[in-house]
Amino acid sequence: MHNDVNTFNPYLMAVQQFDLAAEKLKLSEDMREILRLPKRELAVNFPVRLDSGRIKTFTGYRVQHNVNRGPAKGGIRYSPEVTLDEVKALAMWMTWKCAVVGIPYGGAKGGVICDPKTMTPAELERLTRRYTTEISIIIGPHSDIPAPDVNTNSQVMAWMMDTYSMHGGFSIPAVVTGKPLSIGGSEGRNDATATGVLFVTRRAASRMGMSLKGARVSIQGYGNAGGIAARLFHNEGCKIVAVSDTRGGIYNEAGLDPAVVLRHKQERGSVIDFPHAQNISVQQVLEVPCDILVPAATEGVITAANADRVQARIVSEAANGPTTPEADAILFKKGCMVIPDILANAGGVTVSYFEWVQDLQSFFWGVEEITKKLEMIMNRGFDAVAAEADHFGCDLRLAANMLAISRVAEATQIRGIYP
Ligand code: NAD
Repeated sequence: MHNDVNTFNPYLMAVQQFDLAAEKLKLSEDMREILRLPKRELAVNFPVRLDSGRIKTFTGYRVQHNVNRGPAKGGIRYSPEVTLDEVKALAMWMTWKCAVVGIPYGGAKGGVICDPKTMTPAELERLTRRYTTEISIIIGPHSDIPAPDVNTNSQVMAWMMDTYSMHGGFSIPAVVTGKPLSIGGSEGRNDATATGVLFVTRRAASRMGMSLKGARVSIQGYGNAGGIAARLFHNEGCKIVAVSDTRGGIYNEAGLDPAVVLRHKQERGSVIDFPHAQNISVQQVLEVPCDILVPAATEGVITAANADRVQARIVSEAANGPTTPEADAILFKKGCMVIPDILANAGGVTVSYFEWVQDLQSFFWGVEEITKKLEMIMNRGFDAVAAEADHFGCDLRLAANMLAISRVAEATQIRGIYP
């Protein structure tokens, strides 16, 4: 099974990572067969009326990988690049992510093939409402709970919650997470992914005897995960030397002010052409001199072709699937610590879990309590994975996958095979 840059397939990569861990765990072939495949794959083709009056048919997916540890959970992505294999990979990673941090969920993911940048808010609302209706046969507050991902946000979650509630005839806030506060969202959810990335990176830095104060950080992607990570790492005393979005990157070895960069992006549509910084390519942002690299955009960006040029000592994966197994081996060999996605970005699903619990109980917590509980879960997750890595003398990805897969296999085994 080969995954080069031009034929990159996230699902093949997810299975390749799974097989490495399953082999090391000596998992039975029967169990491997169960866990390699998603439990359910739903594809939907549905018409949406555009503002021009034209009716365009869109394709969307919802995949549930495994639900043996609890209801399925995972984000919804809107992008022209969405494929069924990408959604399958992301659903599988969600299963391992929830298991590695000990959240009682299984894994799911959804996506719609569309280009939201070319659509009006009204068109996006109609697309969201129809897609929600199409997948409502498998989502629900006790079965499968969506959340935001690339190009979806709290407004999209509000439309999903409203559509699902209209069908029920009453408000069902627990059907999605990442909602606005006014309709049952949680304090801390917006910053949760980046906050979790900061917590585990702090843990990793202290393990390497490195201080975050003054550490140089480069970030690929300037959305919910990357943009907020820039602000939080900056507040922690790090120097943000480079950031990027789809159109390109910017670099300044003296450091960038994330709030000013954000304003620039909001005004100009991109981080590029920022005054007092040099424009660089999307690829170069991964290769600039830095101590910590935060990929926070998309899959398959650190590969065998560029891993050697990564200069960071820590790679903290805010994005899902940014590093291929071949690149993992190269980075491990040169002493770079990769904090794997299923651990590094688990802060998002952790606070989503808090939101769901609060919605089900109709009892809401303050931000201090949420941040404290999040920190406890992220630190516990990091320490468990680091202990596993020390025990097996392996990298953190293999350790995290082994820990997660053994927990899901145990749940699967103990529940037994129906009928
Ligand atoms: P977003 O839509 O808010 O932002 C994505 C950013 O990445 C944008 O700045 C975009 O310009 C940039 N980008 C997209 N494709 C790119 C490419 N090919 N090269 C360079 N930049 C590119 O999305 P997000 O929610 O921040 O998600 C980013 C990553 O983080 C994804 O992998 C997602 O699965 C992961 N993640 C997000 C959350 C969350 O809570 N939002 C939680 C866990 C993981």
